[in-house]
Amino acid sequence: MTPAQDTIVAIASAAGAGGVGVVRLSGPMAGAISNAICARALAPRHAHYVRFRDGDGEVIDDGIALSFPGPASFTGEDVVELQAHGSPVVLQQLLARACALGARMARPGEFSERAFLNHKLDLAQAEAIADLIAAADARAARAARRSLDGVFSERVDGIGQSLLALRVHVEAAIDFADESIDTLGGEQVRARLADARQRLDVLIADAERGRKLRDGVHAVIVGPPNAGKSSLLNALAGSDRAIVTDVAGTTRDTLRETIRLDGLELHLVDTAGLREGGDAIEREGMRRARAELARADVALAIVDARDPDAGRAAIQEGIEGVGTVLWIHNKADLLVDVPPDTDDRVYVSAAHGIGLDRLHARLRTLAMGSASDGGDGEFSARARHVEALHRAAGHASAAADQLHHEQLELAAEELRLAHDALGEITGRLSADDMLGHIFSTFCIGK
Ligand code: GDP
Repeated sequence: MTPAQDTIVAIASAAGAGGVGVVRLSGPMAGAISNAICARALAPRHAHYVRFRDGDGEVIDDGIALSFPGPASFTGEDVVELQAHGSPVVLQQLLARACALGARMARPGEFSERAFLNHKLDLAQAEAIADLIAAADARAARAARRSLDGVFSERVDGIGQSLLALRVHVEAAIDFADESIDTLGGEQVRARLADARQRLDVLIADAERGRKLRDGVHAVIVGPPNAGKSSLLNALAGSDRAIVTDVAGTTRDTLRETIRLDGLELHLVDTAGLREGGDAIEREGMRRARAELARADVALAIVDARDPDAGRAAIQEGIEGVGTVLWIHNKADLLVDVPPDTDDRVYVSAAHGIGLDRLHARLRTLAMGSASDGGDGEFSARARHVEALHRAAGHASAAADQLHHEQLELAAEELRLAHDALGEITGRLSADDMLGHIFSTFCIGK
């Protein structure tokens, strides 16, 4: 990768007024531009108190200037940070001055992109910066911080290395066509592939949790009319968002609410009741309910605790294919004896707020599962990563099948594909258009 020739500039601090605002420069002219603005040379990694001046020598503001000569900088290039008062007018003037001196405005994510291109970060780490900045609470921030530290990338790379070593072994065996793979340590190859495959499964589960920490969990409330779906949404969300009536079929459309459970965002969708028949609008509601279910992480299947079998068949059909289902027996206040909860069943009263704590706890465990390391190594991940891991796992399994049938060329090819899929996560093997897409979702100055 050739170094970037142009020098980029952006306001790195948040939009709007603040105590301090930061303008950041990166590229070969960063030093010359800052020398002109500050009217002095900057010693590396020293805080200089200076006056920032415009083209006529007029003072724009005073502040701190910091120089980080490459390669020991965030982007790997020469970087300068100008810290002025956080006035949008002042920061715009500094930006204009830097551009007049030869810099150009950075595109969104361009600083991180340069850090990636200069091998300061891999792609998953660069994405973790965006996730850290967007983190909605301490737990999500901690997870993003771990990804930024390379916790996720190291595990991806570790498995990638194993697959690569196996491929080398298999390709070597192809060259000894007279020998069977078994005489070339085939048993060991199979065992190592099985081990890599298993590590992939654990990583997929952990990455899926990381994705949920970042994106939240999609939970769809389903159940027969009048079971208490709207009441449950209101109880969980703590407002009267959904209309509650005792006329069956009131919730004809889908209602959404996001709640927070100990760092986890739960995107709740209340659907039209799943039942046979109904009018045209209600049938449309049911069609939407099914569409929501198709992309749900969790289904909250709500039934009337007094008659839990009513409408169960329609629910069962609707939730087919949803990985996790929690059965909520509502209106428990109307039961004489309330049975104890089980792993996939809780007794609550949405209308009277009974059992909501138990429901919260159960939801959290069901949605997140338990981490392979008890949660200490929780890292943030994206849907893109999970999808690539699944593809890698598919190819690794196919490689094992081919090995079993002594199809060494095909096994080597599957190992290559598995390795490539892992490489997409860290960006070691990424198409330029994918990189452009990822960095363009970042904000400017990052
Ligand atoms: P939906 O059609 O499934 O959305 O059900 P609603 O939330 O509209 O509730 C239907 C009826 O059941 C309303 O009259 C609610 O007041 C009542 N209801 C909901 N939850 C409870 C509960 O926990 N206990 C009792 N006793 N009634 C409830």
